[in-house]
Amino acid sequence: MTDLGVVGLLVTTLVNVRYLCGFTGSNAAMTLTSDGIGTLYTDGRYRDQAADEVPDLEVVIARDLLATVAESMSGPWAIETHTMSVDAHAELSNAADAKLVPSGRVIEGLREVKDSAELASLERACSISVDSLGDVLTGPFEGRTERELARDLEQRMFERGADAVAFETILASGPNSAIPHHRPTSRIIRAGDFVKIDFGARIDGYHADCTRTVAVGSPDEWQREVHAAVQAAQSAGIDALRAGLPIADADGAARAVLGDAGWLEYFTTGVGHGVGLEIHEDPSVGPKNAGKLAAGMTLTMEPGIYVPGRGGVRIEDTVLVGEKPRVLTTMTTELLEIA
Ligand code: ZN
Ligand code: ZN
Repeated sequence: MTDLGVVGLLVTTLVNVRYLCGFTGSNAAMTLTSDGIGTLYTDGRYRDQAADEVPDLEVVIARDLLATVAESMSGPWAIETHTMSVDAHAELSNAADAKLVPSGRVIEGLREVKDSAELASLERACSISVDSLGDVLTGPFEGRTERELARDLEQRMFERGADAVAFETILASGPNSAIPHHRPTSRIIRAGDFVKIDFGARIDGYHADCTRTVAVGSPDEWQREVHAAVQAAQSAGIDALRAGLPIADADGAARAVLGDAGWLEYFTTGVGHGVGLEIHEDPSVGPKNAGKLAAGMTLTMEPGIYVPGRGGVRIEDTVLVGEKPRVLTTMTTELLEIA
């Protein structure tokens, strides 16, 4: 707040409210003032939940949150213009006797480095995820549909204690595996297919993100080649996830391997992203990111090769940045052959 020259910060991004005070309801705002006072605003549906989840802050129950918050705002205040709707901004500008300045992604910045409680949730989400994939990889795959397999994997995650799935499971077989974010269909899986599975469990609001690509039956030469290139790129990328190094270098490390192998033109997605209370959060691992890696960041490393009409491979892990990188979604990246 000192840097921004403001006396208060209004947080209206729900996931940021959750991060700051632990409230998980679907309608909330939070104010923080430079004298160190935090206040949570929510509506009557969440009276009990707010008292339970946020025992250490004053909770104001209101029907119109912004109008109520505005009454307490005077002087220069920072607001989250990067997520606020145009209508909400207009309402606040009219109602508050305050000079409003954009906060920028300050809370998102705080969220990049995880504390031990956050890491415990992430580790559990990751281990449930890979254990569940292990259950499903006992096979068989041949003769089953993408949808059946995806639902089977999700069911295993729930049985192993997931609160929810982290996102809509991507399970893509044969030519569909060339589509980075394919939705499972009724396509029947056949021998000779690649099956690409991008999935994760959620625990306490924290998301796991993992992808493995397997072969159904014995893979042919091009499948081995493509998989080996992605595996080498992913390994090089993970090795670059060390505290103090430029984030862009991790992108470069993975990309260089795909380039040397002659496959770079078939890599059309991002190298990685932060993962935590959101499945995609700051920082993103890309060539233009000028930031440095910090111990405690949790990032994905997910290079891929997508050959349209033919098939594709992605290998993705959730990785904890430290002096050395630590993979949280621990599972082999070798090309597995499933019956
Ligand atoms: Zn993923
Ligand atoms: Zn991802």
